[in-house]
Amino acid sequence: MKVAIVGGGIGGMCLALSLHAAGFDDVDIYESASAIRELGVGINVLPHAVRELTELDLMADLSKVGVATADFTYFSRLGQRIWEEPLGVAAGYRWPQLSIHRGELLGLLQRAVRARLGSHRVHTGHQLASVGMDPQGRWADFVAHDPDRVIARAYPDLLVGCDGIHSTVRRCLYPDEGPLRWNGVTMWRGVSVGEPFLSGRSMVNIGSSKQRTVLYPISAVVRDQPGKMLINWVATRKVSTAEMPPQDWTYLARREDVLEAFADFRFDFLDVVRLIQEAEVIYQYPMVDRDPLPSWDFGRVTLLGDAAHPMHPVGGNGASQAILDARVLAYELALQPTIEAAISAYDAQRRPATAAVVQSNRRAGPHRCQDLVEQRAPNGFEELSQVISRKELEEIADEYKRIGGFDAQRLNDRASFAVQPPAPSAPTNGETPLRP
Ligand SMILES: Cc1cc2nc3c(=O)[nH]c(=O)nc-3n(C[C@H](O)[C@H](O)[C@H](O)COP(=O)(O)OP(=O)(O)OC[C@H]3O[C@@H](n4cnc5c(N)ncnc54)[C@H](O)[C@@H]3O)c2cc1C
Repeated sequence: MKVAIVGGGIGGMCLALSLHAAGFDDVDIYESASAIRELGVGINVLPHAVRELTELDLMADLSKVGVATADFTYFSRLGQRIWEEPLGVAAGYRWPQLSIHRGELLGLLQRAVRARLGSHRVHTGHQLASVGMDPQGRWADFVAHDPDRVIARAYPDLLVGCDGIHSTVRRCLYPDEGPLRWNGVTMWRGVSVGEPFLSGRSMVNIGSSKQRTVLYPISAVVRDQPGKMLINWVATRKVSTAEMPPQDWTYLARREDVLEAFADFRFDFLDVVRLIQEAEVIYQYPMVDRDPLPSWDFGRVTLLGDAAHPMHPVGGNGASQAILDARVLAYELALQPTIEAAISAYDAQRRPATAAVVQSNRRAGPHRCQDLVEQRAPNGFEELSQVISRKELEEIADEYKRIGGFDAQRLNDRASFAVQPPAPSAPTNGETPLRP
């Protein structure tokens, strides 16, 4: 089976590694960027996705970068503590939760792909322009700088669109879908050198859906600065009257805009203003998503990651759900008798699961506890229990874990998506055989 992966981001790289682990070697990755650049700021990889990376034999490398986040605390806009819980191994998972620079994670995945599949399988500077059918089969055309000059035509048995939030593959499958949906929230992101806070491996979320900041360390070591950490921060603000910021991950924000909006975010446990001042660069991006699709099942074309289910970045699910998609797709391709059957099984499992996360994130996911406290006690509280009960807080946190597929007990107990490469199988029903 010849697979073309369109997009060499986190989802595309994980799919290549998962296919290789399942015994499929004829896999090419086509990436539009001229090089796989280690861009972005911090991201979270939840325990269910860390399990998959562990089973892909990446843990030795992963443990050298990033931080195993130990606990999470929600604070109100006024800095009052609302909810606190352990994370990862401390919460009973068999796998940690990782906070890591997106670029470092991508770099690590890319090196593994090059080592396991061969560097010649990663085609940078190849932007998918269109997909179609001719007498020889399904083709995919790639262009470089000149959009009118095709530099390569591939004839894959299976084409997977892992081409992110502005997916061309998705546009080919759903040409009338229209633009991304913006909820009026602007996100500013940065990485700053700072002092450890709370437990030193804490994630904190301060504010509410109107205005919040989420912070966590992504490296416990900073060169030449002993005792300091690299802290990732995201500051979001509802600005529905303004124009939508450009949908470009590298678009730079004006620091004064962020400082003005977050001027009073100074707390005894953390000085957010100082971190904003110290970030080398600040990126700006709108909080966008799309409605869940009615199908990803196009026989021998499908979607994965942000291309399939762009979602608000709430609860660390963006990269994690892409990693899970990759593992399930490779698993089904290894176990089902035909490509078509595998894509149907993948669609049946992953589309409803990720649609639930998209919908939950629109309602603020686990951050809902802060909105409830702000509505009920806008000027703060003396006794939290008079505003919200422990049971209600627990239900919000547990519900999100169930929706996101990372309930500790169920994750620890469920079977692995790792497969032994099966023997070649005969075609059935005239559909495409997976192996010759
Ligand atoms: C440059 C960049 C920076 C990011 N920074 C952050 C961040 O700081 N924090 C965060 O939470 N999320 C960030 N994201 C998004 C995050 O990586 C994804 O939400 C998540 O990891 C899901 O991964 P994905 O592989 O589906 O998509 P992505 O990681 O977005 O990868 C998609 C890949 O497809 C490529 N591509 C796009 N169109 C084509 C085409 N027509 N032909 C070939 N290749 C194509 C892109 O260049 C990209 O490499 C960033 C994404 C990008 C591309």
